[in-house]
Amino acid sequence: MWTIDELKTFLSTPRKILITTHSKPDGDAMGSSLAMFHYLIKKGHEPVVVSPSDYGVYLHWLPGNPGVLALPVDKEKALKHLNEAELIICLDFNNYKRTEYFADALKKATAPKIMIDHHLDPEGFDIFHIWNPDACATAELIYDFMEQMGDLSLIDKDIATCLYTGIITDSGSFRYPNVTARVHRIVAALMDAGLQHSHVHDMMFDTFTEKRLRFFGMCIKDKLVVLPEYRAAYISVTKAELKEYEIVTGETEGLVNYSLMLSDVVFAALIIDREHLVKLSLRSKGDFPANEFAGKYFEGGGHLNAAGGSYKGKLEDAVALYLKGLEEYKPLLLAM
Ligand code: 5GP
Ligand code: MN
Repeated sequence: MWTIDELKTFLSTPRKILITTHSKPDGDAMGSSLAMFHYLIKKGHEPVVVSPSDYGVYLHWLPGNPGVLALPVDKEKALKHLNEAELIICLDFNNYKRTEYFADALKKATAPKIMIDHHLDPEGFDIFHIWNPDACATAELIYDFMEQMGDLSLIDKDIATCLYTGIITDSGSFRYPNVTARVHRIVAALMDAGLQHSHVHDMMFDTFTEKRLRFFGMCIKDKLVVLPEYRAAYISVTKAELKEYEIVTGETEGLVNYSLMLSDVVFAALIIDREHLVKLSLRSKGDFPANEFAGKYFEGGGHLNAAGGSYKGKLEDAVALYLKGLEEYKPLLLAM
């Protein structure tokens, strides 16, 4: 393992650096990656960001986005950069599986790997890491990294914008229990560096198409199933519904949270019939372990209050498995 001083020495000469994150990156994954990208450019390096998949248009406004290579379209270029990289920085994941179609190549790559992440159970592929499952976002840990590097003064408007995007994405705009006074102090520092927080919120949350908003309305009106006996709820979405409302990657983001607005609901699921598999988003209130539930039934994981997983099979069977899980977790759900 490297110490921070060994890493500083390594980074004291210009390096070719590949930054990557998990498949279907969200605001924390892309915000963290692009913050790191801008930082490394300022340090005189040659970084490139590789996304293992496409990602929501709602993230395309991020500074630095046009240079991002996304699989499968940019696979050749991405592999060339992977081959030439002297350092690989893995952000917002700690397990190769989360990089899906990039996993094999990433595993085989010989350059040393850094991991900065806040998920449980790291696989341990790194030579240096900043890992803290209590951090509200990987973006918070990118700030820690810049602090450890002695480079907080390099944080400019672009870096601040990217870090803030990560923090608001994973903290539910500062509402989850893992938001600390320190997170707010970091944000104060980002504001000092030129962050326009209101603009970021507009770009992240108020850029719906009409179809998308009507899709949310339809889901809440017609698809929401409330299960008071379990203090739970779920919304399931078919392929036909996604097609009818022209819902593309990233456009279901945020939908799962509406169910938790119900005062008596402590656990909610969004169950979507995607191309190759059924994808689940799970959210909870208080101490109910959404990540444990995701791991037990849906080969997934995540954080206590926000987790996800998948199911290979029919949508209705995924729903049945969710209901089976609720039955097994009933005592805990009712104790919340
Ligand atoms: P979302 O519901 O927003 O897609 O995901 C919420 C959180 O759940 C993510 O930040 C991630 O930590 C976790 N997550 C989502 N999908 C998966 C999955 O398939 N596997 C694992 N291990 N974690 C996931
Ligand atoms: Mn994250």
